[in-house]
Amino acid sequence: MKQFLLPEEGKFYKACLHLHSTDSDGKVTPEEIKKMYMEKGYSIVAYTDHEVIIPHNDLRDENFLPITGAEIAVNKQIPGLPGRYSKQYHINLLSFDPYRTETSVFTRSYVCWPSSIPYISEKMNATEYPRKYTNECVNDIIRIAREEGFLVALNHPGLSGQNYPDYAELNGFWGVEVHNTGSVGLGRVETEQPLIDFLEMDKRVFPLATDDMHTKSGAFGGWVMLKAPALEYSTVMNSLEKGDFYSSTGPAIHALYLEDETLVVECSEASLIRVNTERRLSMIKTATDGPLTRVCFDMHPYFEGSFKKNMPCKPYFRVTVQDEKGLRAYTRAYFVDELEGISYDE
Ligand SMILES: [Zn+2]
Ligand SMILES: [Zn+2]
Repeated sequence: MKQFLLPEEGKFYKACLHLHSTDSDGKVTPEEIKKMYMEKGYSIVAYTDHEVIIPHNDLRDENFLPITGAEIAVNKQIPGLPGRYSKQYHINLLSFDPYRTETSVFTRSYVCWPSSIPYISEKMNATEYPRKYTNECVNDIIRIAREEGFLVALNHPGLSGQNYPDYAELNGFWGVEVHNTGSVGLGRVETEQPLIDFLEMDKRVFPLATDDMHTKSGAFGGWVMLKAPALEYSTVMNSLEKGDFYSSTGPAIHALYLEDETLVVECSEASLIRVNTERRLSMIKTATDGPLTRVCFDMHPYFEGSFKKNMPCKPYFRVTVQDEKGLRAYTRAYFVDELEGISYDE
């Protein structure tokens, strides 16, 4: 039986899900952003300016889909240094409603850039929502944003100086960044660790590679390749919500499926492909006679072990494809309980 992990049907669309325009602290206008990303083969850009939600539906055409979004901050102040932060939560909000212009957690007091001021609504003027750097406050923000119709992601935990205690108790994230081009530019590199930490607590969060572009030089370093039936707003949001995508800083994954208990990865030229699981067990294939473009992993020993009692956490596997430059593509985690036809007698 063939079971597609990336959908068999549909078309791949290249997406940037996190960036900033001249509507907040970015240096490139929304129109220029559309042009420059389309020239590099992107079909989707989420405009995620700081603390204001500005729809750009006027930029939509048959080959380009703007997603309505925003980035919200919760700051940990350094005592005695006003405006300086030791840590931050930066949270990405992607709206299911393309025409949305606010959420209950936005207030005027967090808008920092003059160019954002025209987008402060009456509701934002009237709302007081004091933010505190606590799990309780951030969980509240995530819950409200989800209820109001957003996909919610944790942006650049590495750049934000965060580690396990900062995010372990948070619930409801749809995604977490494993790459942020802006972080690289600022000398902080995102890692897979927050993703792994979430997965091992059975928080089914997807890995995101984004640009967080503010200037033209910060573009095209990380993206999402979404496979969807059409370039249509609700279709694209539903495919994102389901996790019908991989993230990448370079390699392409053309197909990913299980043929009975064999995992097949078809990709652009790779030097290494690894399958990581919730256990110490991982499987690696490295290029010996020329680059890898199609690799099969026998998953039987892994699946068999997954059905033993008292496993440390819910079994899952995920695939990473790496090219000779060290650039990587990351699939989401596929939990064994999502798969069809995989079962054993204990
Ligand atoms: Zn940020
Ligand atoms: Zn950002």
